[in-house]
Amino acid sequence: MCAGWSAASPAAEATVTKAERAEHVLRRLGELYPDPPVPLDHSDAFTLLVAVLLSAQCTDVRVNQVTPRLFGELGGTPVELARQPVAKIEAIVKPCGLGPQKAKAIQKLSQILIDEHGGQVPADLEALERLPGVGHKTAQVVMAQAFDVPSFPVDTHIHRLAQRWKLTEGRNVVQTERDLKRLFPESSWNKLHLQIIFYGREHCTARGCDGRVCEICSTLFPERKRPLKTRKA
Ligand code: SF4
Repeated sequence: MCAGWSAASPAAEATVTKAERAEHVLRRLGELYPDPPVPLDHSDAFTLLVAVLLSAQCTDVRVNQVTPRLFGELGGTPVELARQPVAKIEAIVKPCGLGPQKAKAIQKLSQILIDEHGGQVPADLEALERLPGVGHKTAQVVMAQAFDVPSFPVDTHIHRLAQRWKLTEGRNVVQTERDLKRLFPESSWNKLHLQIIFYGREHCTARGCDGRVCEICSTLFPERKRPLKTRKA
């Protein structure tokens, strides 16, 4: 149905299935962001893990301003960061917010990587989720971007856009992740989650839209009249 498919009549919208909407989103985002860069600067799995941890309730831009100093002054390996006083780490990561918790988590997870994983970041979702300061989304980002294991980390942007595109009811990020994994081919996940984030930041902001202004929604829902409400993550 998608090839040559456009903002057609209600009949066309009525026949647009969730699978067809997903297919359109996948194709269109692939055209707009063919090679989405990883937004957090890093040189290996460990510096990525620390950067993702720091990005909780913080912008990637801010994290990318902080990490060069952290890794440059205190070190970019578990061995170097495990022996740093928490206060020293906190002094540098403070601009990312939640300074005390994040500093403590960085020092502690560095020690655990030494004690339990030979100083390496484990390419294992559950092992990652057991590390302090590392939740399901952070673990999935590392699995996708450091180890190229198909993953679909759902952040606030993805949760919001998936609802706006009616790809999920979006009661919570767990359900959104499950629905998106069912709708999109596994081979697309690692790129697609970044493409959705980029589209969310560039076009589909939390405050900026009610689901009727840009080409994606106007193609998927040509007859949408009422503004759309979405659930927060
Ligand atoms: S119309 Fe609005 S909600 Fe829909 S994709 Fe565009 S920016 Fe997002």
